Amino acid sequence: MRKKIVAGNWKMNTNCQDGIELAKAVAEEAKALPAGTGLIVAPPFTHLFGVSEALKGSKVELSAQNCADHVSGAYTGEVSVDMLKSAGCQWTILGHSERRQYYGETDAKLVEKVRLALEAGLGVILCVGENLDEREAGRHFDVCTEQIKNVLYNFTGEDMKRIVVAYEPVWAIGTGKTASAQQAEEIHACIRKVLSDKFGAVVAEDTSILYGGSCKPSNAKELFAQPDIDGGLIGGASLKAKDFIEIALSF
Ligand code: PEP
Repeated sequence: MRKKIVAGNWKMNTNCQDGIELAKAVAEEAKALPAGTGLIVAPPFTHLFGVSEALKGSKVELSAQNCADHVSGAYTGEVSVDMLKSAGCQWTILGHSERRQYYGETDAKLVEKVRLALEAGLGVILCVGENLDEREAGRHFDVCTEQIKNVLYNFTGEDMKRIVVAYEPVWAIGTGKTASAQQAEEIHACIRKVLSDKFGAVVAEDTSILYGGSCKPSNAKELFAQPDIDGGLIGGASLKAKDFIEIALSF
C-alpha cells in the first residue's frame, strides 16, 4: 500500500529562529494526524540541524530542498548528501522547477543527485512538471513522461521504495492557479503508467505521487480524493502550521 504524504517546501523563506518556531508549531499540530499520513518539512539548508532538534519525538520528518551532485571536495557553496544526513535529514527534494529554471538543473545532473541521495540512505522527492507553453502546446503528458524516463529509468524497482514523485505543473506554482483535480489526476495516472512500464505494476502501485501547485486547505480535499493523487508538495501554504496540517487532514 502506498503512503499518503504531505510535504512542505519552505523555499527561501524564514530565518533560523522563525523556522525553528514554525517547525515546533508543525510538530505540535501534527499530533492531530492519523498514523497513516506522513508529514515532511523542507526548510532551507541553514535551518536543518536546528529544525531536526525541534522535531525530535514528533512524527514529522525532515527534508532538504536540494543536494550537491558530488560527494565532497572543492564545490564552493554546495551541500553534500552526507552533510544532509548528519544534519538529521531523511529526505531531499530534487528537480524542483525553480532549480531547473533558475539554476540549470538538468535531468542528467538529477540522475547523479538521486543516486548519491539513495546511496546515503536519503529518500527522494523527485519533481516533474510542464510549463505553461508546454501545456498550451498539448505537450504536458510527453514532458512529464520524458522527465520520469530520463531520471528514474536509471534506477531499479528496489530504489523506487525510497522515491516519491511530485507532479508540479510550473504554471500552478505560486500563482494561485491550481490544476483542476481532473487535470492533475490524468497526469498522475500517466506517471504511474510510465513507472509501471519500467518497474511493473506492483512498484508503480506502491509509489506515492504527490500533487504540487497552489494546493491549499480549500482545494486539497478534492485533489486528494483522486485515485492516483497520494498527497501534496506544498509551498506557500506550508509556511502556516495550521494551514499545512489542515491540508494533511484532507485525505
Ligand atoms: C512548490 O513550489 O513546490 C509549490 C507547490 O508551491 P506553491 O504551493 O506555493 O504553489
